[in-house]
Amino acid sequence: MNIETLAVHSGLAVDSSTGAVTPPIHLSTTFERDPDGNYSKGFLYTRIENPNRSALETAMAELEGGEAAAAFSSGMAGAAAVFTALTPGDHVLAPTDVYHGTAQLLGYQMTRWGLDIEFIHMGDLDAVRAKMRPDTRLVWTETPSNPLLKVTDLSAVAALAGAVGAVSVCDSTWATPVLQRPLLLGYDLVVHASTKYLGGHGDVQGGLVVAAKAEGFFERVRDIQANGGSVPSPFDSWLVRRGIRTLPLRMRAHCAGAAAVADFLNGHANVSAVHYPGLPHHPGHEIAARQMSGFGGMVSFQVNGGADAAMSVAASATLFTRATSLGGTESLIEHRASMEGEGTTTPDDLLRLSIGLEHPDDLIADLEGALGASS
Ligand SMILES: *Cc1c(COP(=O)(O)O)cnc(C)c1O
Repeated sequence: MNIETLAVHSGLAVDSSTGAVTPPIHLSTTFERDPDGNYSKGFLYTRIENPNRSALETAMAELEGGEAAAAFSSGMAGAAAVFTALTPGDHVLAPTDVYHGTAQLLGYQMTRWGLDIEFIHMGDLDAVRAKMRPDTRLVWTETPSNPLLKVTDLSAVAALAGAVGAVSVCDSTWATPVLQRPLLLGYDLVVHASTKYLGGHGDVQGGLVVAAKAEGFFERVRDIQANGGSVPSPFDSWLVRRGIRTLPLRMRAHCAGAAAVADFLNGHANVSAVHYPGLPHHPGHEIAARQMSGFGGMVSFQVNGGADAAMSVAASATLFTRATSLGGTESLIEHRASMEGEGTTTPDDLLRLSIGLEHPDDLIADLEGALGASS
């Protein structure tokens, strides 16, 4: 079935006990045993499995073309489950421009856990090949990346990782399964912050790990989910599953809005660079066009006049809200370098936009005013 149909129906059914069309929220933490001691309905205790979480996991496995998925209480909880499924001493490759929170997790907790982590430029396949070792156990990628929207060739990296038996993982938060399906390009795992587009309304935190194969490495992730207990509540699971119902429609609108905004910025006299994979001059445009069905809702750009000018543009915008995060219905503007703080490699004249679902003409008018005020 097509992704629009899966988004509406996967993992869901009319409730057999009441006829409820919209799924009920199952708050019960425990489930009755059969007289013979079994759990024939499949549920025992809510940390281990919950009907709302199962509906979400089934849907995400189907949307990504995988066999199984595990839902977590945040994107970072999902990432932490993947990294702690490794054994101390294991060699890990990760991108230099990995999401800030993942960089923190790797730099602090996972180094203490004993992982041997190397940060490399994932866009450079020769560098990836050169750094791959026989004992490399995991390769982490993120595409499009944050905040410069760099694009990694997923098929190529999956092949390089597969050649040494390393687990390939893609943080596909920015693309969602509507625009990109790494498992179908050879990846082992996909990680999502469902806090972003999957939830889609800025009102729920969550994460997902989706696996091409239910057996093997993913079983460890599943054990960490059950034993570590960083699981989403039934209501949070329900909210993310509800968000997914409209995901394909929302992504189309996010992409159209971002393309219009990127085109506008690209021609503006006060803008020195625009980073959007849909623009033909973007260095990752060709690969993105091959592996994605749309270029996404995130745009970043650099303003003439440095950090002060960038701050002034953000301060002058009225429709865009100055806030971090992405993937909601409302558009956000962020001075990313000050969010990432000391040691960041993000240019200090860069602003990151999460394009929401407002009319693109209104967003462009707001940016036009803000950029005019900055000059
Ligand atoms: C937000 C985000 C995360 C982390 O998700 P949380 O729910 O905030 O823990 C991970 N990766 C990317 C690309 C993100 O944008």
